Amino acid sequence: MEKRINEYGSRHVEEIHSINIELIEKSLHMRCLSYLSQIKAELLTETIYEVESGRKVLSSYNKSIIEQRDELVKKTREVEEKNIQLIQSKETAIREKEKADIANRTKDEFLANISHELRTPLNAILGFGQLLDLNGDQLGEELHSYVKNIINSGRHLLDMVNDILDLSRLVSSGVILKKRSVDIMAILFQVISMVKSLADEKNLGMNLETGNKSIILYVDEKRIKQIVYNLLSNAIKFTKSGKTVGIVVTDNETRVSIEIWDKGIGISEKDMKSIFEPFVQVGQSNPGGSGGTGLGLPISKSLVEAHGGTITVKSTPDEGSRFTFTLPKGVK
Ligand code: ADP
Repeated sequence: MEKRINEYGSRHVEEIHSINIELIEKSLHMRCLSYLSQIKAELLTETIYEVESGRKVLSSYNKSIIEQRDELVKKTREVEEKNIQLIQSKETAIREKEKADIANRTKDEFLANISHELRTPLNAILGFGQLLDLNGDQLGEELHSYVKNIINSGRHLLDMVNDILDLSRLVSSGVILKKRSVDIMAILFQVISMVKSLADEKNLGMNLETGNKSIILYVDEKRIKQIVYNLLSNAIKFTKSGKTVGIVVTDNETRVSIEIWDKGIGISEKDMKSIFEPFVQVGQSNPGGSGGTGLGLPISKSLVEAHGGTITVKSTPDEGSRFTFTLPKGVK
């Protein structure tokens, strides 16, 4: 009996023990589950927080994108308005250019007519003046000096008329150059002989520094002569008696430079900026009037540039001036 009781007891103890173990396992399981749920909850909170801050960032991006889009729309509208204004300005400019072209043509025709009208009587005045000059001794000293004045003024007027017409044509219709291969040195010698009497009158020395060989360039001979004449006659005109003027020719690989220098009255730095403008005759370089027209330099500049060259000046008051123009080689 006792044995059976013991067996029964020990069976129950085992059962209780296994129930205990089961309970412990379940409790452990439950704790794990609660721990897991806690982790999940934390993760969820974190995720919600991240999603929330992401949403805030996104909405601020969205706001700035909307702002940028509005700005872009505004800018596009402004560009469109500017475009319309530009089209209108372009149309106005085209109309203005047409008007200017018509005015320019009218001016050219007017100048051509007026210069023709002026030249005819002027040539008559000069012709009769020269006739009177030839018979000057019959006129007496005073009358003869009046005749000389008429001739000088007539010549000056004729030069002016020719220069105005020339510059007007050069500026408005461009220069039509009649180019051919010519020897630049021969042109220089010709111009020197043309101005020699002017230099002799003032007892000026004239230097020509160059190699003796000829320099062949494809240019408009008459126009190059005109440039050299303008510069050389200015050098003589603005240099006091007894001093020197000269020409230096430098033959480079790509271009030829012709420098016309003088030991004359010079030009101030301020005046140098304007001497290539039409009708400009500056400061102390015109004591008592030089008898020029103020058109020689602008005409020379247009002609040099039409040949693809450049013209520059260096000058010091009371020491002299150097006008240098270059002509490119190998240009057809
Ligand atoms: P102008 O017919 O008066 O000589 P230019 O256009 O040839 O006209 O010259 C414009 C002005 O530039 C001259 O009036 C003079 O004041 C100045 N000038 C030109 N060349 C010289 C020079 N070699 N020395 C001093 N001044 C000069």
